[in-house]
Amino acid sequence: MDIHEHQAKDILKGFGVPVPKGFVAYSPEQAAYCARALGGAGPWVVKAQVHSGGRGEAGGVKLCKTDAEVMDYAASLLGTRLVTKQTDAQGKGVYRLYVEEASDIAQELYLGFVLDRKSERIMIVASGHGGMEIEDLAHEDPDSLVRSVIDPAVGLREYQARDLGFRLGLTGPQVTQFVTFLQACYRAYRDLDAMMVEINPLVITGKGDLVALDAKMSFDTNALYRRPQVAALRDPGQEDPREAMAADNGLAYVGLDGDIGCIINGAGLAMASMDMIQLAGGQPANFLDIGGGASPERVCQAFRTVLSDRNVSVILVNIFAGINRCDWIAKGVIRAYTDVGIEIPVVVRLSGTNVEEGRKIIRESGLPIISADTLAEAADRAVAAASQKIAAE
Ligand code: ADP
Ligand code: MG
Repeated sequence: MDIHEHQAKDILKGFGVPVPKGFVAYSPEQAAYCARALGGAGPWVVKAQVHSGGRGEAGGVKLCKTDAEVMDYAASLLGTRLVTKQTDAQGKGVYRLYVEEASDIAQELYLGFVLDRKSERIMIVASGHGGMEIEDLAHEDPDSLVRSVIDPAVGLREYQARDLGFRLGLTGPQVTQFVTFLQACYRAYRDLDAMMVEINPLVITGKGDLVALDAKMSFDTNALYRRPQVAALRDPGQEDPREAMAADNGLAYVGLDGDIGCIINGAGLAMASMDMIQLAGGQPANFLDIGGGASPERVCQAFRTVLSDRNVSVILVNIFAGINRCDWIAKGVIRAYTDVGIEIPVVVRLSGTNVEEGRKIIRESGLPIISADTLAEAADRAVAAASQKIAAE
């Protein structure tokens, strides 16, 4: 789960990371008020709060010299969608801004804490060359990258942090600041079950101090149950609406670009079904795992989620029931016709627990459901129905 820059800065500040002073604003008037409340004569930096990096390049970060300029810029940004290198063509809605004091930048560094799956440890990646995205950095200046893996038994050691500082070319009191900075980030990462902490840029100011000018944090969704304070930071407005709806209903859903909607049990079978659809010449519109023991209501909700995607022209239901029951699934499919309203072809393949009852329910429903016995058959029929629909249109 991602959070906003202002939330990440708030968290990191609590752990002792130096960040510029700033306020969140939801309207142009409030943005101008925030600027005045920050004191001084400016300048201020106004930043779009969206779950994406690359905002600067996309016009979502601006240095403003007067509070009138803050207000004008805020008015031009709020309510729009910001398309960055990291978003899709729809971009992300800008509903809040962060107004902060401008920092005097002498040098920009890159700092990231990530989970290194190979060593199964948290790894620090840093570079004396900040401001650009890590992917570009790895491509354009790979030699500038320094890495260090943290041993969970002892945590981030001081000498380890100091060594990284020296490798980045820091000297004197900056190294001491860097050690404190890294240890604070590490504690935030570890204590809150983060998956990523990225400070890009970490700047050295004209006075020689270290400040986190940007902050990005991402959290392990599987650990949110024990981090209610983190879970509360979720902003569904930044999520794919289809995925947000699914998450609210406990369904594992990932939206894709094709037109064949999938309702499947088990992540493995869902992946296999998507492969089979592609093999048959079609494109899946989504990944969806309804999970085990799915009730008819849950199946109905899966239909609602899949149908919320306007590109879907056929639905493929593929169930290999172990804990699930084919009769419940069949009842759910039938209920979806009345409760959700289905006007597109539906292909159903059932096997496993209570399969005979399930098939009987489908057969006797009198609904135009296309049945299939095997996965290959189901995929073929779904693709055929999709192309027939396209031909008819
Ligand atoms: P993004 O990574 O989404 O583009 P950043 O927060 O990194 O957004 O901002 C982009 C650039 O804007 C930074 O690299 C920095 O040069 C500048 N910037 C951001 N915040 C400030 C600030 N408070 N003071 C001065 N410059 C800033
Ligand atoms: Mg940045």
